[in-house]
Amino acid sequence: MEIRFNHTTLGQRVLFGAGAAATNIAAALHDLGSSRPLLVGGGHAAEVVDQICEQFAVVGRIREVVQHVPAERARDAVALAQEVDADSVVAIGGGSATGLAKIIARDTGLPVVAVPTTFSGSEATDIWGMTEDERKTTGTDPRVLPRVVVYDATLTQGLPTDLAVHSGLNALAHAVDSLWAPHADPINRAMAGEGMRALVPGLRGLRAGTEGLEAHERVLYGTYLSGVALASAGAGMHHKICHVLGGTFNLPHAPTHAVVLPYVAAYNSEADPDSEARIAEAFGTPHAASGLWDLAREVGAPGSLGEIGLTEDDVDLAAELATAAIPDSNPRPVSQESVAALLRAALRGDAVR
Ligand code: NAD
Repeated sequence: MEIRFNHTTLGQRVLFGAGAAATNIAAALHDLGSSRPLLVGGGHAAEVVDQICEQFAVVGRIREVVQHVPAERARDAVALAQEVDADSVVAIGGGSATGLAKIIARDTGLPVVAVPTTFSGSEATDIWGMTEDERKTTGTDPRVLPRVVVYDATLTQGLPTDLAVHSGLNALAHAVDSLWAPHADPINRAMAGEGMRALVPGLRGLRAGTEGLEAHERVLYGTYLSGVALASAGAGMHHKICHVLGGTFNLPHAPTHAVVLPYVAAYNSEADPDSEARIAEAFGTPHAASGLWDLAREVGAPGSLGEIGLTEDDVDLAAELATAAIPDSNPRPVSQESVAALLRAALRGDAVR
């Protein structure tokens, strides 16, 4: 079979090491020539922040971070960065902290050092998001891609288990959805495959709580690969559905991803046997969708969209909005009826086989 593709690899430095966050942030700032970092977040990494403050004159700190980056707070953060004459932004936290740092970078050009404390994967992408008048807008901009990512698995160890598992399933969704996203190619598919192979045992370890740091390291490693795959391939059917459920119906981000993923995999599997085989291989199961469904049950994901706030009255509008957004590249064509049927199955929590 002929191989032909057009792939761009985003340039980013990644420093990975348990217990090494402070040292690695210091090295990153040094190499960036930064001596006036602005800190975003850090409530979950107080020790690391204290160590950083010993080494650098942190010129400002934004402690309060709000989900989905409200525009007003983003404007205040940009103004603060300019006022204190920051020469870099260090974001320590989940996707919300990284998200705020990205808007500062978009509007000032300052380099970002991202230090994730969840498995959102935002640090691996050049995608920004902001919410104004209850509407979330997203876009891509090379300036928002963090220049350095510092992964330290001792930081995610502070996550409550449910939050950790939902966040890790969100990372898995990045890998799976990238397989049929508009710019899927052999490079990002390889990353997604390795990402899934790390995430599946890592997620089981997070839930079991027996592997300690090792499970967190595996999930962080898988999170990065999956984020890189999605950044390169773009968002597919799964993300478009979740975006509508989060944006219009206010469903929680990570649990929504955790519920919807097996249904989308079941929908696409027959039309895309190669992706189906890759997912099933990562799970060690005969079928992709049942592997995803069983893992979600095993690690304690929410059982249905009904459980996390969707109602029957919401389904038709959700289906209409999602259908309009699902890319033409989706392996199986979609219609409002087929998306509504998928949503109803997820609303009830029907078993996926
Ligand atoms: P989040 O950053 O809001 O964190 C979720 C909760 O976990 C918060 O209450 C936070 O305080 C807490 N928390 C974070 N780290 C912790 C730790 N180590 N210990 C204890 N508690 C901790 O949520 P998230 O799921 O990380 O990110 C979701 C956001 O990121 C959404 O706005 C989503 O749209 C965005 N996102 C963006 C991209 C992108 O590429 N731009 C990708 C994925 C997600």
